Amino acid sequence: MKKIMAVNAGSSSLKFQLLAIPSEKVITEGIIERIGMNDAYYTIKLDGKKIKEILPVKNHAQAVELLLNDLLTKKIIASFDEIDGVGHRVVHGGETFKESVLIDESVIAEITKLCDLAPLHNPANLTGIAAFSKILPDVKQVAVFDTAFHQTMSQEAYMYAVPYEWYEKYGLRKYGAHGTSHQFVASEGAKLINKAVEDLKIITLHLGNGASIAAIKNGKCIDTSMGLTPLGGIPMGTRSGDIDPAVVEFIAEKENLSIKEILNMLNKKSGYLGVSGVSNDSRDLEEGMEAGNERCRLALDIQYKRIADYVGSYYIYLGGLDLLVFTAGIGENSNRARSEIIRRLQVLCLELDEKANDVRSKATIITKPNSKVVAVLIPTNEELVIVRDTVRIIQNIH
Ligand code: AMP
Repeated sequence: MKKIMAVNAGSSSLKFQLLAIPSEKVITEGIIERIGMNDAYYTIKLDGKKIKEILPVKNHAQAVELLLNDLLTKKIIASFDEIDGVGHRVVHGGETFKESVLIDESVIAEITKLCDLAPLHNPANLTGIAAFSKILPDVKQVAVFDTAFHQTMSQEAYMYAVPYEWYEKYGLRKYGAHGTSHQFVASEGAKLINKAVEDLKIITLHLGNGASIAAIKNGKCIDTSMGLTPLGGIPMGTRSGDIDPAVVEFIAEKENLSIKEILNMLNKKSGYLGVSGVSNDSRDLEEGMEAGNERCRLALDIQYKRIADYVGSYYIYLGGLDLLVFTAGIGENSNRARSEIIRRLQVLCLELDEKANDVRSKATIITKPNSKVVAVLIPTNEELVIVRDTVRIIQNIH
């Protein structure tokens, strides 16, 4: 095998990474944004340099054509035959997909059925798959699901206490998200402390613009904070996280809004942005707080408190805790966030090493050697998981 492409297709974007196999070295990466517009953005990174072009891109098929032809022009590949497989991030695998699979007609039909559960994401993922099938019809494609890692949750963890028929008729339950990230950082965290993931009780904190938490026992997910959709769980950049469901009717009446409009506000105008009124970016909030903006401080404090609540609850459910893992934009970059969260977990006997915590995006143990629970920072790498799964599945069928 020579090269595998990891793809994350959104409704108007296509993110890609091309990796060499078996070295797993990133050959090139980039994104095509504003697909469908006359002034779409095509950005590709090569030898550490970003090259950006503005040009018309009608649809995803054209985006894939543009990308693949550019790989030839830039001599990144000599022919399309060098691409041995394409791995796609697919947001919702429902209860059907408990692991990554080779894409065929029946898999496409199942992902299509699941569009109901992820109406914004699954159709976009399917568009990406269709575009690659059109341009590279003989290349094997693999679907890697964001929900798959959470499929090991037991019924008591994934069911909502609502009429059971809703689950039977519509599959209404907790599915979670960021599964590839949680799985990856749990196993990398275990490696960093020289333990087998199968022997550990782990809580992973994926803290990015979207944020979620997972409780992992013996390498398997037993609970996670996101729900039927990514709106559930802890507050995020623009999402509220868990709220009393009666809020929806209350605000509908007060503000004369439809359910759709309120859901849009809970998804896009809440969290950091909603509370602070300033930004969805934790850097702006940290700056605002330092300049004396109390709502910026509050937006961060609400999130940290709720993270600590989840960790406490998962500590009980796991029956203890060996390893706490921080990852994603905030988890990897904000030493303040890590230190504030750990401070709120004092009762679990975590001893932060302030000096070690002064670090960014580098696998690091951030607690003192005598800390009962070890906390680590692990940079996430969802593309690498996608590529590894693609290689494994393609090799198995040969
Ligand atoms: P992600 O969704 O994983 O890309 O993460 C995005 C989040 O990471 C945003 O809220 C950013 O503000 C946050 N982030 C990135 N760099 C930093 C930093 N140096 N300090 C604090 N937050 C950061």
